[in-house]
Amino acid sequence: MNKLSLILFFNLLNIVLSFNNINKNRFATNVVHGEFESDKLTGNLITPIILGTTFTQILPGLRPGVDDPDSHGSGYFYSRMGNPTRGSLERTLALSENANYSAVFSSGMAAISTIIQTLKYDDHVIAMNDLYGGTSNYFKNIAEESNGIKFTFIDMSNLDVLEKSIKSNTKLIWLESLTNPLLKTVDVKEVSKIAQKYNCLLVVDSTFTSPYLFNPLDNGADLVIHSATKYISGHSDIIMGVIMCNDKKLIKKIRFIQGGIGAVPSPFDCYLALRGLKTLHLRMDASQKNALQLANFLESRNLVEKVIYPGLKSYEQYELVKTQFRGPGSIISFYIKGDQSVINTFLKSLKIFKLAVSLGAVESLMCVPALMTHASVPKEIRESIGITNNLIRISVGIEDINDLIDDINQSFNQVFKQELNKF
Ligand SMILES: *Cc1c(COP(=O)(O)O)cnc(C)c1O
Repeated sequence: MNKLSLILFFNLLNIVLSFNNINKNRFATNVVHGEFESDKLTGNLITPIILGTTFTQILPGLRPGVDDPDSHGSGYFYSRMGNPTRGSLERTLALSENANYSAVFSSGMAAISTIIQTLKYDDHVIAMNDLYGGTSNYFKNIAEESNGIKFTFIDMSNLDVLEKSIKSNTKLIWLESLTNPLLKTVDVKEVSKIAQKYNCLLVVDSTFTSPYLFNPLDNGADLVIHSATKYISGHSDIIMGVIMCNDKKLIKKIRFIQGGIGAVPSPFDCYLALRGLKTLHLRMDASQKNALQLANFLESRNLVEKVIYPGLKSYEQYELVKTQFRGPGSIISFYIKGDQSVINTFLKSLKIFKLAVSLGAVESLMCVPALMTHASVPKEIRESIGITNNLIRISVGIEDINDLIDDINQSFNQVFKQELNKF
């Protein structure tokens, strides 16, 4: 072979090799561009907000938009059943999660309850014992009370306990990628093997990790849900949920239930979520960097009894977090030393951190889970798993880290002042 044909050969090889990857852009490119193609007529670049509730039919029953990828092949006729703005968000989210299918909902709880609606009376679910407060409330006080679905709550870190809890009517295993507020995790791949062995579906609520840090479907899960209210939208301005999966039959059932019960988000909220999603990677990188510095700072302070942060060497499952996730996230929990008056003075003195529930947005928030997010969990259960009144959860935002540290420092000083005055 002469030199020219050698060059041609390698160029050809390159083209053939890159062909496989042609649609495989990376995360940041996927969330910025989604799968939206600019409008052929106007050249409009971003997903428009389509407010129409009804769509003109071509002939009775013959729907427009069957070819629009955002209609998922069923065309448009009534916005509860399908909307172009919602479809665009669904396809972009699926791309970010490396999922085949996605359906967005009017809240995270609407997504969660839709999955439970796929079950029948007397079906059994095994879930972690420190789930998000709203999820455990829905499971116990609504799904079990009204729908007769049975739940067993266990410490999932022991896989023997999990295997022994499986019954002939067990249909789902329910996990959170990182739990709230104690930030525990389990080996999702190992749990998925057990789910497969017993023919159960594995559901992972991946809200705390977001599609940027973890993709449960790639780790053996059958369904992944997010409260898109948190990291995905990221600006504390919409309530939304999403379910993603790879199985066509499963998504059909989920869409059927969603249309039937009407748990759909507005087109405007879908637009805001698409807009938020474009910067998920930047926001998560920034808040995670802040969180690690803040966790180290807290660990060095006398008023702090213990810090729980998956990026700290002192964190119990540090090695698992390192292999399972692309980063430790930006939620920190810590136990403060002192009684309720110490806690109240500390929280009241903060100027940048706001005392509020929710998480995963640009601004830093603190909350006391025992009195706020987990107030509906009975006190004995709460305390037995470590959610005591002196546990504070921080959702770290993207502010300047020096201001965040200064703010906590000056609040600690207010506490010292108050305690000195007692003498
Ligand atoms: C917030 C949250 C939910 C519920 O989502 P909403 O959007 O508030 O309905 C479910 N799971 C987790 C882990 C959450 O943080």
